Amino acid sequence: MTAREGPGKRGMIFAEPTIFERGAPGREGFSLAQSEVPLHDPAKEIDASLLRSEAALLPEVSELDVLRHFTRLSQWNYSIDTGFYPLGSCTMKYNPRVNEEVARMSGWAKLHPHQPQSTLQGALELMYLLQKFLAQISGMDAASLQPAAGAQGEFAGLLMIRAYLQDQGNARTKVLIPDSAHGTNPASCAACGYEVVTLKSGAQGILTPEVVAQAMDEEVAALMITNPNTLGLFETHMAEIAKIVHDKGGLVYCDGANLNAIVGKARVGDMGVDVLHFNLHKTFTTPHGGGGPGAGPVAVKKILEPYLPNPVVMRREDSFAFDFDRPKSVGRVKAFYGNFGMFVRAYTYIREMGAVGLREVAERAVLNANYLRKKLEKFFHLAYPQTCMHECVFSDKKQSAYGIKTLNIAKRMMDYGYHPPTIYFPLIVAGAMMMEPTETESLQTLDRFIWSMEQIAKECETSPETVKAAPHVPKVRRLDEVKAAREPKYIYKAKG
Ligand SMILES: *Cc1c(COP(=O)(O)O)cnc(C)c1O
Repeated sequence: MTAREGPGKRGMIFAEPTIFERGAPGREGFSLAQSEVPLHDPAKEIDASLLRSEAALLPEVSELDVLRHFTRLSQWNYSIDTGFYPLGSCTMKYNPRVNEEVARMSGWAKLHPHQPQSTLQGALELMYLLQKFLAQISGMDAASLQPAAGAQGEFAGLLMIRAYLQDQGNARTKVLIPDSAHGTNPASCAACGYEVVTLKSGAQGILTPEVVAQAMDEEVAALMITNPNTLGLFETHMAEIAKIVHDKGGLVYCDGANLNAIVGKARVGDMGVDVLHFNLHKTFTTPHGGGGPGAGPVAVKKILEPYLPNPVVMRREDSFAFDFDRPKSVGRVKAFYGNFGMFVRAYTYIREMGAVGLREVAERAVLNANYLRKKLEKFFHLAYPQTCMHECVFSDKKQSAYGIKTLNIAKRMMDYGYHPPTIYFPLIVAGAMMMEPTETESLQTLDRFIWSMEQIAKECETSPETVKAAPHVPKVRRLDEVKAAREPKYIYKAKG
């Protein structure tokens, strides 16, 4: 294969200033014909104390200015619709367009959250069924769709654990978390007032019952575990570990972000888990990233059901309704009912795949990851060489002999037309490169990617300076990320 057969790298990408540099004073987005209705000056209708003394700094642009601005910026972007996106732990799979078609149907898209429930029966039924599907897929008893992201699902789950333990007489003070965990896990604990105790993963990259037993005492509220974990490895001692935690009165939280590896194959509910969150934007193909709405439903065992966030959707004789009459609920964690459009997409995906299709998702995701693992282990050091689940973690150990670091390799991948993988995470692998191909990529795509990675590995030996100076092709090269965050070019300053 030659470079030309890899993803193309040429095309017109336009320069684009900030929107404040476009436009001109007085330019307007659109104009309307003279109205027959008398004009009101809003400034005269509003109390003077509430009016600003100076006009806000807003761009003055035409509709076409705005359209070109955002379309051009979108062309600078890299997305799953542009190319392969092996960002580990993020499950950047293709979002089938049928999900979008269905979510855009006006019967869903134009609903108003204040509509009477009698006019929302179809939407309520969809939410009810999605709750049921998620509970069934994970082996749990009940679910709430409310949380807006995985991290908020964690927060809601820990609130439930706290409320449950409080009812038993002691909310306890600590949560056990393995050292391979995602950063949101300890953050959610802190937000719920729990102290984090970090558990060391065993030599095989998974948690051992001995380590849990040693740390487990009557002050531990929960163990928070990710399965498969962020090394892409299945936590094989789950049932035994759960028993150790339960025997001392604690609960088991499962971070379900990596569910794509086991969906339809194994149920965490059967492994002793009491509560887990789903990332609909990972496993169930709702749009991902970009700050758009996500969804992180939580599912629980019977003992935690009364504590689920409000409202959940229940079935009456022949209708569906929001159930607010749940005195033990931890309350709302999100305005209204959660990000409903995401529920429509996830529901559509689940119905489209069916039970057999979902099982195949996990099988192919694991197959693709192991294909990458076997093909790339010749060129890059593998932190844990055993069979992996949905992702595998390489490092820069071999390339460091040439002064090349993970960051250089990641930047060089952009020159070959790929989004870099997750880097420097999990923290327990020095110079980690975590790759998750997902099931939606073809053999051709994987082979091209493997070819590119082989080229980069060779370049590290033959022309390390090229790799160190990467990326060469993208429109913007090395960004000063700290400066971008600390000194934004335009910032709205409210008058004191
Ligand atoms: C993505 C992820 C999270 C956080 O989920 P968000 O939806 O981004 O809030 C938590 N844990 C793991 C392992 C993840 O991969």
